[in-house]
Amino acid sequence: MEILKGADVSAKIKSQVREALAGCPGQPPKLAIVRVGEKPDDLSYERNARKKMEAFGLRAQSYAYPADISDCDFKEAFRTVNEDPDVAGILLLLPLPKQISQADIAQMIDPAKDLDGISPVNMAKVFAGDAAGFAPCTAEAVVEILKANGIPITGKRVTIVGRSLVVGKPLAMLMLRENATVTVCHTKTADLKGACRGAEILVAAAGRARMLDGGYVGDGAVVIDVGINADADGKLCGDVDFESICGKAAMATPVPGGVGAVTTAVLAKHLMRAAGMMR
Ligand code: NDP
Repeated sequence: MEILKGADVSAKIKSQVREALAGCPGQPPKLAIVRVGEKPDDLSYERNARKKMEAFGLRAQSYAYPADISDCDFKEAFRTVNEDPDVAGILLLLPLPKQISQADIAQMIDPAKDLDGISPVNMAKVFAGDAAGFAPCTAEAVVEILKANGIPITGKRVTIVGRSLVVGKPLAMLMLRENATVTVCHTKTADLKGACRGAEILVAAAGRARMLDGGYVGDGAVVIDVGINADADGKLCGDVDFESICGKAAMATPVPGGVGAVTTAVLAKHLMRAAGMMR
């Protein structure tokens, strides 16, 4: 089984970004990372995103607020970041605490700075198959991995396990745009194993540690594991039981070292697009 390393895809995107930056005079574009509270997952994502922007030659600044900030105060603070002409793009770490209306913030965010596609304007564009909008970075990362590795999507049977707004649903739309035949599975899917086994490209985005073993994978399938979970021993793992699919899948992404690295690279690419420096 060939291992599809996220670092290789990220390196390709990095050279595209570097090349585009070299052709643009002036300051590199700035990413605003907006965080409420101190959740370890958020802090780790923020750290990775900042490191990646730096490595790509881009600017990043964190805007952190206390977990108990009021809805009104956060909206005021968010408006300032949103309207700052020095900020080319925004990454808002979700979910927000309960007292803040996430729906209001999604409406507020400038669609042109909405790098992770949370605004209804960008969601509509993804749904319409309009590539001018911003799709959620993770969903786009899956497509980037396939394309960077020369894996054809057109006409392929793609099964996605998971239907969330950030991964499963937008990914289904991106795959349709690439002319795949898409099946989306969830907790009420009657024959999950059958739907997975029939796939030529299987994407796991359920958030369940190692739930998909070799029995869910068809011979020669390409498996993309979006899941980031902690197993019973607290070890980081994906939704796929990597060891058990080795004899079945032709190619697979590892966790860690797979989709996550590409997600932040896509974020960098989106920042360049928001600044008008890349298409
Ligand atoms: P959500 O919890 O929002 O959604 C999970 C989806 O999986 C739901 O649609 C759910 O179905 C489905 N699901 C859960 N359990 C099963 C099951 N046993 N059988 C079939 N379907 C199931 O998760 P996210 O989409 O936000 O994230 C998914 C995973 O991806 C997580 O591990 C997360 O950490 C990871 N992630 C990774 C990123 C990266 O950059 N690599 C970025 C974002 C997320 P139903 O709708 O019926 O409840």
